Amino acid sequence: MRGTIRREDFVGSIADALQHISYFHPPDYVRALAHAYRAEESPAARDAIAQLLTNSRMCAEGHRPICQDTGIVVVFLDIGMSVRWDADDSVEQMVNEAVRRAYRDPDNILRASMVADPLGTRKNTGDNTPAIVHMKLVPGDEVHVRLAAKGGGSENKATFATLNPSDNLADWVVKTVPTMGAGWCPPGILGIGVGGTAEKAMLLAKESLLAPIDMHELKARGPANRIEELRLAIYERVNALGIGAQGLGGLSTVLDVKILDYPSHAASLPVAMIPNCAATRHAHFTLDGSGPATLPVPDPSVWPEVQWGPAPSARPIDLDSVTKDEAATWKAGDMLLLSGRLLTGRDAAHQRVARMLANGEPLPEGLDFTNRFIYYVGPVDPVRGEAVGPAGPTTATRMDKFTDVMLGQTRLLGMIGKAERGGATIDSIKRHGAVYLIAVGGAAYLVSKAIRSSRVVAFPDLGMEAIYEFEVENMPVTVAVDSEGRSIHQTGPEEWRRRIELKSAN
Ligand code: SF4
Repeated sequence: MRGTIRREDFVGSIADALQHISYFHPPDYVRALAHAYRAEESPAARDAIAQLLTNSRMCAEGHRPICQDTGIVVVFLDIGMSVRWDADDSVEQMVNEAVRRAYRDPDNILRASMVADPLGTRKNTGDNTPAIVHMKLVPGDEVHVRLAAKGGGSENKATFATLNPSDNLADWVVKTVPTMGAGWCPPGILGIGVGGTAEKAMLLAKESLLAPIDMHELKARGPANRIEELRLAIYERVNALGIGAQGLGGLSTVLDVKILDYPSHAASLPVAMIPNCAATRHAHFTLDGSGPATLPVPDPSVWPEVQWGPAPSARPIDLDSVTKDEAATWKAGDMLLLSGRLLTGRDAAHQRVARMLANGEPLPEGLDFTNRFIYYVGPVDPVRGEAVGPAGPTTATRMDKFTDVMLGQTRLLGMIGKAERGGATIDSIKRHGAVYLIAVGGAAYLVSKAIRSSRVVAFPDLGMEAIYEFEVENMPVTVAVDSEGRSIHQTGPEEWRRRIELKSAN
């Protein structure tokens, strides 16, 4: 009956949509990324975008997650005031049931990333609940659902400021974006909320990311109002920073800039910025009581004819025999293909290892970092005979506080992650003659195809944060910090900013 929403239609539609967005990028994002690929002149950034596009198509075909971080679920509901619910649960309970169902789907299991007691035990809730639910009552007898699965790396870069009313928004954005580093996996979208109060500005920023990417249309037709003028100005100025894909230096840092505004107090100008990453995932549908929603499957022609392959200059490296002397010959920017065994570990494992070392406790039997590389990753569980599910890198900056201890006390040779390292960590890498390599954040399924086997070595209770040993074959990485402390995340953007400046001066 029209206007009566059955529990199963609501739960099933949200669960299906979460599965859908785990493996289908929105077509507008793929088109914008393809455009960026064609326009990119930086070889390193072009290689990274090729990996993202190839990964995107592989996920669409294989129905496996675009990224190992399958996101925190954020749902915006516009609920008609005449809607009746054929359900006993609360709306939030139904949304959480949908999340549970989607993330535990045995055919395409998704990674549960939510932890309870965030200041204490940080225990994984096991099913990625709870979701973040925003509800609004609106006229009508329909329920409009907009949902997203938001990656932690980009969410961590959310920024808020209260500007003076006379301050310039574009100046603030251009000053702030470089401080976000590359952990948000550019190229992506900047969502900006302006006005209201602090919490309203943040909400507007998040909501703005749900709009379709239309920057190329906007550029072609020209801005029609002040907000569009600002979007265009910020887009041009941020891309002129030269940060580029994965922060490697290049022409495309943002594919679009979205702005939503709201009236504010005469004394204030609250502004919020939330980036969306290479794993941009959102869906929209309406329920009117006539049954569950079905989302359209993107036409395969959406994906461009781009098939990533290793650069001819990429050097094969045998991880089982590599030495410190050999690693010392690698230069920042070199592309490598890793084969052999590596260990994994991220936040919780590092914290535990550091604590054990500080207490003088022996590490678990079989855990030996000598001459090994550690890959910062929390993989998705395998399905259908996979060695491991999608397993892209996580943001390395979070491991900075443990790196000196790891390099100094475990004889670790190097690390693999994504994004830049802090100054003190770069000094430590140089002092220990170590190296830091990066894989492409957001190309998780493609990366996982290089992993031939996986076994848990230590801390099985940590789930996806346990220490695994992966056997890899031709895993593509780039040297981000070499043993002399040169960082591609410094040199790349500097070089491309200069080139862009030169180009616009001529
Ligand atoms: S693309 Fe990057 S920021 Fe986005 S979910 Fe994946 S790892 Fe996180």
